[in-house]
Formats: sequence, C-alpha cells, structure tokens
Amino acid sequence: MSGKGVRPRLMAIHDGLLAHFGPRGWWPGESPFEVMVGAVLTQHTSWKNVERAISNLKALGLTSPEAIMKAGEPGLLGALKPSGYYNLKAKRLRALCAMALSHGKGGLRPKVLELPLEELRGALLAVKGVGPETADSIALYAAGHPSFVVDAYTRRLLLRHGLMEGDPPYEDIRAWFMEKLPNDAALFNEFHALIVAVGHHFCGPMAPQCGLCPLGSDPHLILS
Ligand code: SF4
Repeated sequence: MSGKGVRPRLMAIHDGLLAHFGPRGWWPGESPFEVMVGAVLTQHTSWKNVERAISNLKALGLTSPEAIMKAGEPGLLGALKPSGYYNLKAKRLRALCAMALSHGKGGLRPKVLELPLEELRGALLAVKGVGPETADSIALYAAGHPSFVVDAYTRRLLLRHGLMEGDPPYEDIRAWFMEKLPNDAALFNEFHALIVAVGHHFCGPMAPQCGLCPLGSDPHLILS
C-alpha cells in the first residue's frame, strides 16, 4: 500500500466516482442522533430495512437517547423488527444511548459528539456491539470528525486496484487513507459514500462490471 503518487491516484479515483455518481449527500438522517441510530441498525441488513425501523421509532417519538432509555428494551422490539436481529440491536442501541448520556445531555445532537475524535472513538468502541466501522461512521457522519470509514466495499476496491495486498487489519487501512489524503471530513464523507456506490453498482463480490465502471481506466485486475 505504498508507492509514489498514491494521493493523486486516490484523488483521481474520488473525482472519477464523483463525476459519475454526483454528491451522495450522506449520511441520510434528520439529526446527528438519527445518524447514530442508523449506524447501529445498518449492521447486517439493507438500508431499506433500517429506514423502516427508524420510521417506526419516529412514529413512537423515540428520537433521542433519553426516549430510547425510557422506552426500555421491550418498548423497542416492535419498532426495530424490520432491521433484523432486533433483540440484539435493541440492546446495542440502548448501550450506545447509555454511553451517550453518561457524557451529558442527549437530544437530537448528544453532547458526547463534542468530544475530540480519538476520545469519541474510544468511547464508541467501548460500547458492546460497536466495532470500528460503526464507530467511524458515527464519528464522521454524526460528529463531523475526519475519521475514514472502511468497509467491505473499500477492501474490495483496494485489493482489485492493487492498492492493498492480503487482508490488513481495519486500523491499518483507516490509517493509510488518513495518511494519504488531506485531513478533510467533507472529503472523507464523500469518498466513503462514493466507494459504497461503486461497490453497490459495479464492484460486487462475484461479477464486477469493470467494462462499465467509472474506474475502468484506473489500473485494476482484469476481472471482466
Ligand atoms: S468494477 Fe472493476 S474497475 Fe470498477 S471498481 Fe471494481 S475492479 Fe475497479
């Protein structure tokens, strides 16, 4: 994952994707707290299912950490059902809310989001069920910190474009992006959303559509 000219190449990848897909407007959510909820609920399910669960929570007025804690676990199960693994997700969501409230008020923009990046990340990673991808999604999209999010789409793109070998740990890939790119939350926000878009539309696990892909001119393994 080394070599000269990595930043210009990454920026060319970003710009090519942006030219094709346009700004993605991430993360969908009416408040930072809704982004936090979405980041937990999206584990192991599609965004469509998350939207249904969030809409259920809103219908019940469960739009703040205080309301989620007051509802109790049983009070969340029906609303979370569309997101799958709803028993587990109710526990995780409440654990996240409890952590947030331990740092001050909750509401639509919990006080915990004002922590510096590494402190916030540490607090999030200490919550049971919150891994680095969820923590960085919250740090970037809810708190606005420059914290690069790595997911399966990111790994696949780096591997297929010869920018990564093997299966490096999450933290190494995140640190690599953050070292190679300007420290810019808006750039990280857009770049991750664009990687998800290319992964979703062209770079699937089985049959990548390189001939149609906006990254077809960047050197990559011959996959189709
Ligand atoms: S589909 Fe092909 S060209 Fe597009 S990102 Fe995947 S490997 Fe690269």
